Amino acid sequence: MHSELGGQVDAWLQSSAVVSGGQHAMVLLSIPQYEQMGLALGYAETEALVSNLRLALESELRRQDLVIQANTDTLAFLLPALNGIGHLELALSKVQRICDERLRLEGRPLQLRLCLGAALTPVAHDEGTVLLRRAHAAMIRSRQLGEPVIDQGHALSSVASGWQRHLMMAQALEAGEFEPYFQPKVDSVGRVIGAEALLRWNRPGHDLTMPDDFIPQAEANGLILPLTWYVLKASMARCMTWQRPLTLSVNVPAAALTSDKILLEVQDGLAIFDMPPERLTLEVTESGIMHDSKAVLALLSRLRALGIRISIDDFGTGYSSFAHFRDIPADELKIDRCFVTNMLTSEVDAQIVKSMLELAHNLGLSVVAEGVETAAVASRLTSWGCDQMQGFYFGRPLAESDFRSQFLAPAQVAVRQGA
Ligand code: C2E
Ligand code: MG
Ligand code: MG
Repeated sequence: MHSELGGQVDAWLQSSAVVSGGQHAMVLLSIPQYEQMGLALGYAETEALVSNLRLALESELRRQDLVIQANTDTLAFLLPALNGIGHLELALSKVQRICDERLRLEGRPLQLRLCLGAALTPVAHDEGTVLLRRAHAAMIRSRQLGEPVIDQGHALSSVASGWQRHLMMAQALEAGEFEPYFQPKVDSVGRVIGAEALLRWNRPGHDLTMPDDFIPQAEANGLILPLTWYVLKASMARCMTWQRPLTLSVNVPAAALTSDKILLEVQDGLAIFDMPPERLTLEVTESGIMHDSKAVLALLSRLRALGIRISIDDFGTGYSSFAHFRDIPADELKIDRCFVTNMLTSEVDAQIVKSMLELAHNLGLSVVAEGVETAAVASRLTSWGCDQMQGFYFGRPLAESDFRSQFLAPAQVAVRQGA
């Protein structure tokens, strides 16, 4: 569609409609859920919905504005003679309002997620394709960010560099550059009883890349799922070669909780590596579970029915209500590091940690404190009845061979006896 559309934009830029001064804009509007709508509402109904939307936009925008159906799920707008970016922003909010009013089913709003990308001249009058590419790049950014994007000259390069990074990560996954590191989890007397797999990217010629630098990108570019299945299997494989039966915790992103695939992956891993299910814990963040509660909670229950454990990671940072929290099918709660770090100096943090311990225990959950960095914090947590601890005081995340020699050698069974 885009080569033809480029020609239309060229013709429009050269036509009498746009000679009247000011700046000219191109806007692309797409409906990412179009395919699902087709399946759920019917193809003809969905087409009619979009074509009615187009008619409404044509009648409500200015007379000189042009609306083109660029694709089944994409509308293009050509808006001449705008008075700068503020004027374009007004036009975008008008488009958004008309969409909200018109995209309805039996009078009720469909609450669709729309992607709106826009670009503004100056470009020469024969550069329709440039304007189109900039609007297109802005629309792609809008899909990633979840809000309308106006290209200020960077959208093209940012989409291009995002794509480069995507290719690089996809190749890195193929080449085995991602590697799970392992951090010990200890019980209340300091014995290592488990490990959390924490992913690292070993890029040749670079320092070790940390998850904060690549997990958000993987979440945006769709590689998060293959990466998740990889960590799960790779860490299960390693854990099952250890001479002591430690538990294994694996982080699972919200995106992995939107389909049944995770059930198959877990079942597959348990069978391949002959792992007793109770040794595997999946860590899901509080905010991940809040996404789409009912379906996610049902999926978590089915995972637990396999015999594995569910842990709520980063607890306290996700703003979930107690009412919601009560319904989460979980076995373990991890108190976020931010409360543990200052609990000896801040009375408020101390009270929060104690309340979380009490709440979790009352609900039958075991509690892990994250970010334990000193002996004093460890012994205070133990005196408050915390079940397990994790943090630099007991051990940093290590490559598997280092983890083995530090924590699995027979002499190292108790790292901090009596901590
Ligand atoms: P998380 O799951 O809450 O993991 C704990 C993080 O705290 C890890 O950072 C760990 O190195 C760090 N940490 C542990 N003890 C201490 C301590 O005593 N002090 C301090 N300052 N930090 C401590 P890391 O490895 O950089 O991972 C950051 C986050 O990235 C993880 O938080 C998790 O949300 C995500 N992540 C890591 N690996 C994976 C993965 O395989 N899949 C997914 N989806 N997310 C992952
Ligand atoms: Mg975790
Ligand atoms: Mg955490």
